[in-house]
Amino acid sequence: MLLLGNGHLVTRKKEKGFIKNGAVLIDGKVIKEVADTKSLKEKYPDVEFIDAQNGLIMPGFINMHNHIYSTFARGLSINGYNPKNFLDILEGQWFKLDSEMTNETTYHSGRIAYLESLKNGVTTMFDHQASYGEIEGSLDQLSNATTEMGVRTCLCYEVSDRHGKQAANQAIEENLRFINKVQNQTSDMQQAMMGMYAQFTLSDETMEKAVGKTPEGVGFHIHVAEGIADVHDALRKYHKPIINRLFDLGILGRQSLLGHCIYINPQEMQLIKDTDTMVVTNPQSNMGNAVGCPPTLRMMDEFGIVCGLGTDGFTTDITESYKFANLIYKHTLVDPGAGGTEVPEMLFANNPKMANRYFNTKLGVIEKGAAADVIIADYQAPTPITADNVNGHILMAVNGNNITDTIINGEVRMRNKEVLNVDEDEIYAKAGEEAKKLWSRINN
Ligand SMILES: [Zn+2]
Repeated sequence: MLLLGNGHLVTRKKEKGFIKNGAVLIDGKVIKEVADTKSLKEKYPDVEFIDAQNGLIMPGFINMHNHIYSTFARGLSINGYNPKNFLDILEGQWFKLDSEMTNETTYHSGRIAYLESLKNGVTTMFDHQASYGEIEGSLDQLSNATTEMGVRTCLCYEVSDRHGKQAANQAIEENLRFINKVQNQTSDMQQAMMGMYAQFTLSDETMEKAVGKTPEGVGFHIHVAEGIADVHDALRKYHKPIINRLFDLGILGRQSLLGHCIYINPQEMQLIKDTDTMVVTNPQSNMGNAVGCPPTLRMMDEFGIVCGLGTDGFTTDITESYKFANLIYKHTLVDPGAGGTEVPEMLFANNPKMANRYFNTKLGVIEKGAAADVIIADYQAPTPITADNVNGHILMAVNGNNITDTIINGEVRMRNKEVLNVDEDEIYAKAGEEAKKLWSRINN
């Protein structure tokens, strides 16, 4: 057993959401008891104690949408790349990069992404993989990488016709192979979805094939209306809005996750709601790609759609998305009050709700029986900190760099900022070599 205490305990429960000097007792993979530090120390005097030193003790963060394959784009300069719009960014950078990703590159990008996630306090990550340089077995590379780092993950491979029919079929098979693999595992550390890039790169034939082969209970992780060109494509080719096309093809549903949804109309929002489909918003990425601001607040407030937050490959630090989400709605709507309640709801309530449509152990909450995914942030509050304002403290002053301790599935993965049982120098050195090779393939 393990006792974490002497910190401001943020449980994320409806009642008792905050315990001033709280402690959490971990037993195996789950949380056994939650109370004030004094009483738990008295009750369990011999249990190993981790002192939060008056910082924050919280459930681990969840990232609902990432692209590990973007890891080696950091600092990359592609000859002749000078994007004028979102399609230029996709074709000039991302499609070029993914077409040179081999299993070796994928493995090393995975080790970095999972390592940095756990350092940033992200204990669960939903990823969307693309490596058209080598498709088969690529999800195993990510699976192996996260087995080393211990981050909970839900993987999928992005099916697309952009590299031809044969590659699209291989991508479908890679998803199915991995879905089958995780369904035969008893552990709750890895799950899988059927990934799809975006409908403008997907024929009816490919999507029907993917839908037809996807097992019951598994949903689709797909990009929707990230740019206006995606909308125009659906109207031009299929004479219907994107969400209608996805509905007709059987892609919407409780287990499905739609990325972005920037350009969708109210009738499409109603379809998302009626099918109880999940939406993930990625504000930092949207701003970086200059694709606009999604109508997330309307989807949540008017339609009751469950919307969460992702990083979309921009970073592995989900607190950055929290901060950008806080700004993008205010800035776009010219309303300083916009998103005040919705943004914390997205990260702290909806991300766990969405993740738990895949993982069986309760995530995103510190309570008896929930997953022992707990983090400590080194944060000394200069002003009073209470249940009502803790999200404001996190918003203004806590980011991934503040995380000192990360425990996932009951295992201490980082203690006092030191990642345990892995050689960080070796991981970065190997990654550097691999990135160099990838970059030369891209620019040759
Ligand atoms: Zn994405």
